[in-house]
Amino acid sequence: MRYSELFLPTGREVPSDAELVSHQLMIRAGMMRKLTSGIYSYLPLGYRVIRKVEQIVREEMNRAGAQEVFLPMVQPAELWQESGRWIHYGKELLRLRDRHDREYCLGPTHEEVITDLVRNEIKTYRQLPRNLYQIQTKFRDEIRPRFGVMRCREFGMKDAYSFDPDEAGAEVSYRKMFDAYNRIFTRCGLNFRPVEADSGSIGGSYSHEFMVMADSGEDAICFCNACQYAANMEKAELAKPEAELPAGSALLLEEVHTPGVRTIEEVCGYLHVRPEEVVKTLIFAADGEPVAVLIRGDREVNEVKVRNYLGCDALEFASDDMIFKVTRSPRGFAGAIGIKARIIADYSLMGASAVVMGANREDYHLTHVNPGRDFKVENYADLCVIRRSDPCPRCGGKISLARGIEVGHVFKLGTKYSKAMKALYLDRNGREQTMVMGCYGIGIGRTVAAAIEQNHDADGIVWPLPLAPYPVIITPVNVNEKPLLETAEKIYLFLVEKGMEVLLDDRDERAGVKFKDADLIGIPFRVTIGPQKLSEGKVEIRDRRSGEVKTLTVSEVEAFLMERISEKCEV
Ligand code: ATP
Ligand code: MG
Repeated sequence: MRYSELFLPTGREVPSDAELVSHQLMIRAGMMRKLTSGIYSYLPLGYRVIRKVEQIVREEMNRAGAQEVFLPMVQPAELWQESGRWIHYGKELLRLRDRHDREYCLGPTHEEVITDLVRNEIKTYRQLPRNLYQIQTKFRDEIRPRFGVMRCREFGMKDAYSFDPDEAGAEVSYRKMFDAYNRIFTRCGLNFRPVEADSGSIGGSYSHEFMVMADSGEDAICFCNACQYAANMEKAELAKPEAELPAGSALLLEEVHTPGVRTIEEVCGYLHVRPEEVVKTLIFAADGEPVAVLIRGDREVNEVKVRNYLGCDALEFASDDMIFKVTRSPRGFAGAIGIKARIIADYSLMGASAVVMGANREDYHLTHVNPGRDFKVENYADLCVIRRSDPCPRCGGKISLARGIEVGHVFKLGTKYSKAMKALYLDRNGREQTMVMGCYGIGIGRTVAAAIEQNHDADGIVWPLPLAPYPVIITPVNVNEKPLLETAEKIYLFLVEKGMEVLLDDRDERAGVKFKDADLIGIPFRVTIGPQKLSEGKVEIRDRRSGEVKTLTVSEVEAFLMERISEKCEV
């Protein structure tokens, strides 16, 4: 491609809402433009990178035995009503009506559509297993679209769905996808990690997220330094304490006046106790019903664990009204004694005694509280957020924390959709059975943005070779000097003929401008053709990542690029 003909508006300006480097660079490098909130157009350079990712995804999905389909984006409400998600999916589902007043949604994911297709077409065990995938546009009406294409509303996703006759088969299908994802993100040149994850609104029993490691990532993850354990913090388990210690203290409950003291820090300062000796009582509304969650003062509650424990759809902090109904006191003084709510407690409180807790009375706390003696806990469970000093739940090793960007997600769905939507087949004995499903997503645009988060410097993007829109740019420093342009054209035509994607910077611009643009758009190799070196029959080749410059003859450059590029792109 000749740069002079390319639709590539590069620049210095970044919109004020572009907080992340990847967002800024995708705008500056002319990869994409915002149409409206959370909705973006890809320009030629950006779309080339998208297609690179799609190609790698496609090759690895095909290699793993999945078959490509293309499903509709507009989906009838009836299917979503059948699965139960018309209600449960909430406001991320964009709903619409046609001229006949029939209801539809724009697909945020395709479990319903694929299950409908498969239940109509697959009838016997002989037709199983099947894995079908597509690369297609999704729409999710995200509450806060941000970070450019990282969290937008309209985005491209690869989604695959496996159908197996039984649990064992589903496990094999899951494994295949897990392995394919490892290959995909390795081939994309990314530093990533699969982590155990919560299943969220898609549902199902078991899942892993593929995280690209980046400090700017929205997800907090933890991993063990001694074993393979790695998990999203939402999911990261904490082991049940070995044995429940007997409630030891015989001291009697005491109500103490604590004027204006609400937070854990204030309680500790005022009563001269450590956070470990205080109990936090958090009142939640779980599907509208009050639930008190107790946790040790030094720990944070993990709302995902609470939601999973309760099995509720909606979990939010209780309103002032609800808190008053439950505790008979204003916010900030809740305790467990005498309240009108279910009480569940985190493992950290097992065996606790003589602790401090809100007195359900404004400006008062209780000391010497003994759970068990003074109130009844419905159950102790793992409800808190893991932290650095905690032991690994698998091996007891040391846990590290890090941040990541979720680029892919594999789920074992079990029979959630196949049961609700009656995806049945006849087994060997002619008996009707329910198919066992899995689903597997990769955000294409998010993968590109994540690659930039991980691969950039002060001058711009530094593409991993397999994702580079063009692996090579040829830059004659002055197109008005005939020998420079001629040599550039010669190398360009040679490489193009060999099937390489090459950019020829034939613009009548100063060398400095060209170099800056080449760095900004992140082209891995720049061949610079200048008068001095060319007078010796040589040109320079610069590695974008290392900055290393080699001086080679024209034929050496051609051989060098042919070798380097095919070598790095090899499967
Ligand atoms: P998140 O927790 O980030 O919202 P999710 O769990 O809702 O993601 P999935 O339903 O698992 O996402 O979707 C599969 C993949 O689609 C994700 O791993 C991610 O790469 C991509 N994806 C999801 N939501 C968005 C979005 N709003 N913008 C861009 N990509 C997205
Ligand atoms: Mg989401």
